[in-house]
Amino acid sequence: MVDYLKRTWAVVDLDAIEHNFQVIRDSLPEDCKMMAVVKADAYGHGDIAVARTCGKLGVDWFAVSNIEEAISLRRQGIGHPILVLGFTPPELVCELSHYHITQALISLDYARSLQEFACQFAVTVDVHIKADTGMSRLGFAASHGEFTQALEELKEVAAMSQLHIGGIFTHFPCSDEGSPESIAFVEEQIVSFRAFCAAIEKMGIPLPLKHCCNSAGILNYRHAAMDMVRPGCILYGFGQGDDLGNRMDLWPAMELYTTVAMVKTVPAGTQVGYGRTFTAPKEMKIASCTIGYADGYSRHLSNKGYMLIHGQKAPIVGRVCMDQLMLDVTDIPQVKQGDVVTVFGPSDGAYLSAEEVSAMAGTIPNDFLSEISKRVPRIYKKNGSEFAVNDIVRRLYEEK
Ligand SMILES: *Cc1c(COP(=O)(O)O)cnc(C)c1O
Repeated sequence: MVDYLKRTWAVVDLDAIEHNFQVIRDSLPEDCKMMAVVKADAYGHGDIAVARTCGKLGVDWFAVSNIEEAISLRRQGIGHPILVLGFTPPELVCELSHYHITQALISLDYARSLQEFACQFAVTVDVHIKADTGMSRLGFAASHGEFTQALEELKEVAAMSQLHIGGIFTHFPCSDEGSPESIAFVEEQIVSFRAFCAAIEKMGIPLPLKHCCNSAGILNYRHAAMDMVRPGCILYGFGQGDDLGNRMDLWPAMELYTTVAMVKTVPAGTQVGYGRTFTAPKEMKIASCTIGYADGYSRHLSNKGYMLIHGQKAPIVGRVCMDQLMLDVTDIPQVKQGDVVTVFGPSDGAYLSAEEVSAMAGTIPNDFLSEISKRVPRIYKKNGSEFAVNDIVRRLYEEK
């Protein structure tokens, strides 16, 4: 590894992505397509590295959250179909059309705007209808099997000359929850979605691709895989911590490491860090480390989280600073400057998972991992050895 990277770095194992992809693929019916969700820079793993890996494995589609992410993939040579899951300003129809990006069609008003701009610029846009079956975020209303108005609206959409409907999808708000109410809710969503699709097709509007399963949907509602599934977190090997108990053999793809900058012994009564929120109850050994909230390590972990050094737990003492934090290493005598600290991942036979760290921070891995900041270099491993480095440390800023 290049020396200048030895401050804080993430290791992304592309073999793990490949393994997870195959495991997910093998769990699905033969003809079910895979749409890899690579939004938010592939949940912090790096979208281009992940997209290329999935591309080689025969992924069918990619999903992103916005048009910038989609264009970025296109500019880096990704030619697969891409669905934008969220809102794109309708003024950008030319970009959608030019880059062959499929847009989620989120409402009738939105369809009208798209159609208007598409007419103005004489372009056509591919869309997937978004059905709202209970998430109450985006989409044509189809909850509880009630969709009379949505059918009227879609009749108007189907007549729009510049929009091409290539599919339909919906989203589950609680497919990871094991309570009888949550299970009943998702099952009702699936029934509503199927009925809605059937009614649309009965109006003579073909829906070549129907999809609804996110990761937890794939794990827990495989009977609803339909034409395509949209795995996000399980592709990266996390997010199985739900209470339905269905598991796959997934490998976490990311590990995060930092370094000890200084070790010192402090007498009882010493206060540590901003706000002096920690007071040493006895003589202690403290290791200052080179990671902070600007690297994405949540400040909520102040006086709460822990890391691993030489396979042993080192609790955070005091507040997490912007670029540094302090660990109690009193019980790990051999710690010295330059030692590698595991933020999450393996450490001399011990393991601290991203799930555990996220839980300590009061959040979920999707949030925690996608927050790991751009200043943390990603080192990519393939076939067990270093394959690529995302060298953002040496990025340049040049004014014209
Ligand atoms: C983010 C997202 C997904 C993937 O979610 P995971 O829970 O990470 O699998 C799938 N579908 C939609 C609409 C999403 O927004």
